[in-house]
Amino acid sequence: MRILLVEDDALLGDGIRAGLRLDDYAVDWVRDGEMARRALIDQSYDACVLDLGLPKRDGLTLLREVRARGGMGNALPVLVLTARDTSADKVAGLDAGADDYLTKPFDLPELQARLRALLRRAGGTASPVLVHGPVSLDPAARRVTIKGETVDLSAREYALLHDLMNHKTHIRTRTQLEESLYAWGEEAESNTIEVYIHHLRKKLGAGLIRTVRGLGYQLGEVD
Ligand code: CA
Repeated sequence: MRILLVEDDALLGDGIRAGLRLDDYAVDWVRDGEMARRALIDQSYDACVLDLGLPKRDGLTLLREVRARGGMGNALPVLVLTARDTSADKVAGLDAGADDYLTKPFDLPELQARLRALLRRAGGTASPVLVHGPVSLDPAARRVTIKGETVDLSAREYALLHDLMNHKTHIRTRTQLEESLYAWGEEAESNTIEVYIHHLRKKLGAGLIRTVRGLGYQLGEVD
């Protein structure tokens, strides 16, 4: 899962990015509204954490533009993060297209939990645990089990499985998976996705992930 973090405060941005990385999200962090606008055009994201008071382009203006553009921007979950805490500010933020609203100061665990809620809604489920056959993935605990037994996964293996389970009905191309796993500056080696798929099949069963020849990968049918 790849998150765009838009925050001009260096200390706060650094803290949020570190927290989100602990949850194994790929995080691109930009510090002004113009860079955010360009990032949202160039890259597809699973969610955006958006500060409102930003240099170059105000967060609310950016949000309205993203929603007005339609396409991917319409579906993007946006969590607004701001020091503007009046009721009128919240109404303006939500009416501009925000999905959720968190006022500063806030606790990181609350931000993480709200983001999980937005991501699972965007993935088409309200249940906090993703289930596919005997495999369960609990994003809050960052835990994967098979038939109730915990399975030890590396950060990338976990992120890859999370992506596939969040897009259960879709075929995911290698490019989409790479974009989901790697933030700017963390470019993947050419066959890394195949390597992680291989590891996941070894740990969770060969049938869990099927290769769709020429297209990509999808969760397989399992009992
Ligand atoms: Ca700010």
